[in-house]
Amino acid sequence: MTGVNAITTKAPSGGVEYRKVDIEESGPLELSPIYTGICGTDKGMATGRLDFAYNPDGQDFIVMGHESICTVKSADSGTGFHPGDLVVPVVRRPGGCINCLAGRQDNCSDGDKHEAGITGKNGFMRETFYDVPEYLVRIKDSALREVGVLTEPLKNVVKVFEVVETVSRRSIYTSRDSTYSGKKAYVVGTGAEGFLFAMMASEYGFDTRILNRHPVEENRLKICDAFGLTFTDYSTGSIDESVDLLIDTSGDPGTFLNFMRKMNYNSIGIMFGTNGKAPAAELTGSDIDRIVERNITLAGSVDAAKIHYEKAVSYLSRWNSVNASALASLITSKRDPSETSLFTERDPNSIKTVIKWT
Ligand code: NAP
Ligand code: ZN
Repeated sequence: MTGVNAITTKAPSGGVEYRKVDIEESGPLELSPIYTGICGTDKGMATGRLDFAYNPDGQDFIVMGHESICTVKSADSGTGFHPGDLVVPVVRRPGGCINCLAGRQDNCSDGDKHEAGITGKNGFMRETFYDVPEYLVRIKDSALREVGVLTEPLKNVVKVFEVVETVSRRSIYTSRDSTYSGKKAYVVGTGAEGFLFAMMASEYGFDTRILNRHPVEENRLKICDAFGLTFTDYSTGSIDESVDLLIDTSGDPGTFLNFMRKMNYNSIGIMFGTNGKAPAAELTGSDIDRIVERNITLAGSVDAAKIHYEKAVSYLSRWNSVNASALASLITSKRDPSETSLFTERDPNSIKTVIKWT
């Protein structure tokens, strides 16, 4: 593939360029992104803060981007795909461990996997690229042509709720009527992942609060209204209720510990956000007592498998049919690939910024 416009960085040192690249690549399907999403990982790479990012073999750069929705540009016969089909490519590609061999490279047991746009595999922020059917998630609902770009961040959420269902089997976790009604979920952080977690918690039936340490703007409050979420600025008052499900997207140890101290009997705490540069915080003896005496489960969760992408597509279809405008308003701006300053700027009103390719 020669002379394709792409957004690149040099991993792990950083910098961003929009330029023509020549990449040796082939495959039975040629894809063109419609949108690619920008997330904290892309910004971390652009600013040289992600030590674990690396370029593909033989390249001194990596094409960025792991969140996308694409159209099939051309497809070999027998692939089952046709020009114009909508697809979302899977980010993680397997290594040789037992989890990877079983299609669960999200649970890779030796780190020998690659992630498009992050670790050793070119990403999706380019005019066109090649892929194989095994790693493509089909989107049949044409109404998801834009919001389908949220499939990749939402698939992480789907996996987390599978983790919650798995670990909650150690006791009776539901309410007396067998549902999650009356159970309290707190989601810390009001970014795209925070909102998708809160929407899913509400979908499950939890009484759901999304929190930050400062107020949020009108758009975020409207999304809360549309999806039945309560927003709390916890800097202005204390919260005295117990929480059954805590999901942290801040990655801040002090923040996590603060909310962990509100965890109920048999509750579940999920660590999802990451911030290696966050200040340390102290885990006390009474914290450990609480975790032990209350049978609290704390779990980390990263990435997700193809099955979770497929389920994410179903949730997006459902939410889009009942609340299209609120779902669409998670995408706060659509920008041109040449606007590389997007990777280094911080806009507090932005939830999800996407790059428009076609
Ligand atoms: P984001 O837009 O940066 O959201 C992070 C949220 O956390 C923001 O609302 C931020 O508040 C809030 N926050 C940060 N520090 C905080 C603190 N000390 N106290 C309270 N809130 C705090 O990122 P995102 O795209 O939603 O992703 C969320 C996190 O998940 C990121 O850390 C990302 O790297 C991570 N992630 C993990 C996985 C995984 O597989 N585990 C996958 C994707 C992303 P402000 O509004 O003040 O910035
Ligand atoms: Zn592996």
